[in-house]
Amino acid sequence: MKSVKPGRGPSAMGALGSVIAVIFGIFWTIGAASMGAPWFFPLFGVLFIIIGIVQTVYNLKNATGENRYSSFDIVEETEEPDPLNRRFGSAAPMDDTASDGGSGDFRFCPYCGAKLGAEFEFCGKCGKKLPDIP
Ligand SMILES: [Zn+2]
Repeated sequence: MKSVKPGRGPSAMGALGSVIAVIFGIFWTIGAASMGAPWFFPLFGVLFIIIGIVQTVYNLKNATGENRYSSFDIVEETEEPDPLNRRFGSAAPMDDTASDGGSGDFRFCPYCGAKLGAEFEFCGKCGKKLPDIP
């Protein structure tokens, strides 16, 4: 598995933005409460503050910490298969290489260039008979 880590610069900028969001949330909450707005207006401000604090901590850790959270984990399909692929896609290419014991068992059609299995007699794309394998 390989991980893509967020840059320290962007993380620092994210932390700064989150701090500004927290300050905005504090002003919003105080303002809404002092103006006698309905209860959910101050509550919205409080939510804003909480999310802002969480994001500030997360971004600060990524900006300054030794072990950053990863933005993306790049995994092999054998390590962690894609659930959507399993459901909707075909697992054929992987099974093919597994059963052949390698990925080199193919050739190209000399007429149209389609990628074909090594044992094919006819091209699956243009239908022409392939020359015999020497
Ligand atoms: Zn062909």
